[in-house]
Amino acid sequence: MSDPALHPCFLGPYGENDALLEKLVVEFLRDHVYWRRNVHPEDPPAIPTDAANQPAFREFEARLRRELHSLSAALKRSVPFHSPRYIGHMVSDLLIPGLAAQILTLPYNPNNVSGDAAPVTVDLELRAALQLARMLGYVDDPARPDCAFGHLTSGGTTANYQALRLALALKAFPVALRAIMPPGLDLPGDDWAAFNLRPGDAIELLQRWQQWLAALPPGPRRRWRQRLEQARIEHLGLAGFLAAHPQLKAPVVLAPVTAHYSWSKGMKLLGLGRAQLQLIPERGMRLDVEALEGMLRRCAIERQPVLLAVGVLGTTEFGTLDPIDGLVSARERFAAEGLGFSVHVDAAWGGYLATLFREPDGTLRAHEDVRSQFEFFPSPEVYAAFAALGQADSITVDPHKLGYIPYGAGAFLCRDQRAATLLAEDADYVFDPGEPEDYFARYRHLGRYIPEGSKPGAAAAAVYVTHRVLPLDHRHFGRLPQQTIRTAELFYQRAQRLAETLADRVRLRVPFVPDSNLVCLAINPAGNRDVAAMNAFVRGLYAEMRADPGEHWPQREFYGSITTLRPEALGPEDTLRVLGELDLDPASLDEDRDDADRLVILRHTLMNPFLIDSENGISYIERYFEHLERRLRALTADRPAAGAIHSDVA
Ligand SMILES: *Cc1c(COP(=O)(O)O)cnc(C)c1O
Repeated sequence: MSDPALHPCFLGPYGENDALLEKLVVEFLRDHVYWRRNVHPEDPPAIPTDAANQPAFREFEARLRRELHSLSAALKRSVPFHSPRYIGHMVSDLLIPGLAAQILTLPYNPNNVSGDAAPVTVDLELRAALQLARMLGYVDDPARPDCAFGHLTSGGTTANYQALRLALALKAFPVALRAIMPPGLDLPGDDWAAFNLRPGDAIELLQRWQQWLAALPPGPRRRWRQRLEQARIEHLGLAGFLAAHPQLKAPVVLAPVTAHYSWSKGMKLLGLGRAQLQLIPERGMRLDVEALEGMLRRCAIERQPVLLAVGVLGTTEFGTLDPIDGLVSARERFAAEGLGFSVHVDAAWGGYLATLFREPDGTLRAHEDVRSQFEFFPSPEVYAAFAALGQADSITVDPHKLGYIPYGAGAFLCRDQRAATLLAEDADYVFDPGEPEDYFARYRHLGRYIPEGSKPGAAAAAVYVTHRVLPLDHRHFGRLPQQTIRTAELFYQRAQRLAETLADRVRLRVPFVPDSNLVCLAINPAGNRDVAAMNAFVRGLYAEMRADPGEHWPQREFYGSITTLRPEALGPEDTLRVLGELDLDPASLDEDRDDADRLVILRHTLMNPFLIDSENGISYIERYFEHLERRLRALTADRPAAGAIHSDVA
């Protein structure tokens, strides 16, 4: 069942492709050395040719070797992410194209803060973002004015900060424009209306302002531009901006209860404050669109501005996918009623699953076509979420998660690059009439737009080359998530079999149908009705699957992870359902007792493509469940089986 197309892609669980990677690394290291020599081949070697024979040199090398040996030894305590026995967190083996491109690029040390310091890799970064844009359904033609813009970040966290920054800039810009009243420009009637434009309408206003400016002689143009700068929220700060516009309050961000904690960090960093992050309840593990609409309605009545509504495409804890279609339609409806806000999709985890929905020509595949490759995936809800991605205002995707790229590679994308000019650090975001309007020329000064400064060009090379070798459609890159989602479907079915096998010893349930390749298991010893006791039991089981950093060689049969299922994430109906299925007493779910306010469950991230090894006839899924069965039998050996006379609670 393992896909032959994936065989050359990774170094492999056994280091099977060592020869390929070694050949590439040596070849391109030599190539780099020739490049150095050929910059000025007439220059003689600056380090003397006999330097390596000097005692000090040899001493240095000995010291270096000692330290490297010790580092290499210490790194053996690393978590074996590459192993098919690792089914814990959101990480697996690395794709060889990315690894090789990164190693190749490192000695050139390009700095993607600007094209001057990275003549090659800044363009690769912009192109990598356009490759992602196409995967997500954004316009990816840089000749079009409404083309997407994106860049890499250190990770999803920073990409989410950038989403907050852009949404705030776009929301507050029309208010600043009203404050300076350029004559002849048609502006919203009051500050509330200006603060509540549809994101698309705010971009349109920005366009008109830029054209208005461009028609002025240089002197007045500079003065009007300065006037606007001084009225912007980025200049005044939140306090100054709100003082200047007493009709307005600090805007809130609406994000589902399962949102990643980077949103809390981002609210603090931007000075909006954690109190302005309002959590949207969930139903059936998805953002509840009706609840969102209720919150929006209340905001409209209370004249509470909304900055952003966030949907999560692949929650960090459960892999569940929010109804992005519901978010974008709420944005349109509420904007028409005078409450404008942006929609951001945090697809740090699930973004690359979009490859399954794309044809090589960039069009969206039909639901039945995607469906025909799987048992369950994608549900109609999941399909609708991916189909709506292109309408989100901005998106976070992490190449270093389901893109199988080394760490330090997240990505931020916005749908319409014309908004990105508002991020620019210097004020000349209006194109000067003489300036060439080339997409790449404009963004080559990347440092002006991004939250970071100096950043590795090697990461950009890794992402770009990977997307070239494995284009982001279902026929190429998509074979990878296809393999892992099929594996997850097998895992799901196998879990149900184990539940039957062990019915007299434990209640084992998949608490909610998995949306993608992350599957959770809830396990309660038979006869136990107490939440805290179940949690202690699952924590005990997990202790055997954890790579303990304190141990010298944390050898485990399998490496897993745990998470907790909070009633807020499940919603009241599903909480009662899950408690019932596990035979737990609802009264024991009690936030006043220790470790009893939530359910501790096992969490399995199935992103290793080699979990089913057909050549050796091994299924690591099968082995995992055999292992789990043995452990569960051992851990419940001294308990009375279900149906026995005693029903004492551990
Ligand atoms: C991982 C993750 C993040 C944070 O990304 P980092 O790359 O760890 O900074 C944000 N949101 C979601 C949904 C994630 O899964």
